[in-house]
Amino acid sequence: MRETDIGAVGLDFGCLTAVAMSDGTKIENPRFLAKTQRKIKKVSRQKRRRRAPNYKKRIKASTRWKKAQKQVSRLQSKAANQRSYWSHKVAAQISSSNSMVATEKLNLKNMTKKAKKGSKGQRQKTGLNRSILDVAMGMLRNAIKYKVEEAGGVFIEVPTLYVKPSQTCPNCGHQKPKNLEERVHQCHKCNYTGDRDVVAAQVMLNWALGSTPHGTCGVKRGSQASTDNPKEPKNCGGWKQAWEMKRQKPRPNS
Ligand SMILES: [Zn+2]
Repeated sequence: MRETDIGAVGLDFGCLTAVAMSDGTKIENPRFLAKTQRKIKKVSRQKRRRRAPNYKKRIKASTRWKKAQKQVSRLQSKAANQRSYWSHKVAAQISSSNSMVATEKLNLKNMTKKAKKGSKGQRQKTGLNRSILDVAMGMLRNAIKYKVEEAGGVFIEVPTLYVKPSQTCPNCGHQKPKNLEERVHQCHKCNYTGDRDVVAAQVMLNWALGSTPHGTCGVKRGSQASTDNPKEPKNCGGWKQAWEMKRQKPRPNS
């Protein structure tokens, strides 16, 4: 195996930084998206104050409402274009120097689910949801996956239920849960320190390269362990398997 010859990188998608890479590079959220978002908010507020159509009561929309509606949809498609442009640019940047990308298996539905009312993380979570949608992580992920695989590389999804990138030390494998506010990883055992997101990306890369101490992967943590998918084998995937997959799929002659 020559994993050093081919660039291999772990990626952690987040809301504060859009992408944290295992080599320490961080890609920030694009500002222009937030700007467009603000504009959309403003215009849709105007729209709400104007007379909307109501077909049951046979009320026609006012011209001013229609005007605002037009503006909203124009801005929304602008935001969509910006997102897609940005995600393709970032994906091209990442896939140009890496033929192996390891990242978490995302469950966007769960992640964007609203936190329980009155629960401690509610406000935190709503902010998180907004940023998640803002970054358009799913779009970026798909673009990266597509570009990496198109170039003959491999895209590995790390089962976070077993690997727990945000809780594990990439240096010694010690696991300790973090709060959402904890932005820095500092290991109690080996004193390894690093940025939280970068560390998570490193853990994922390690797992993909097969150097994670597998004994620490499937830790039981009360109720969480019971929700784990039993169908998923514990030592699934990893670099070895990925390499075989790659060999089976012959690269198109270029
Ligand atoms: Zn450690």
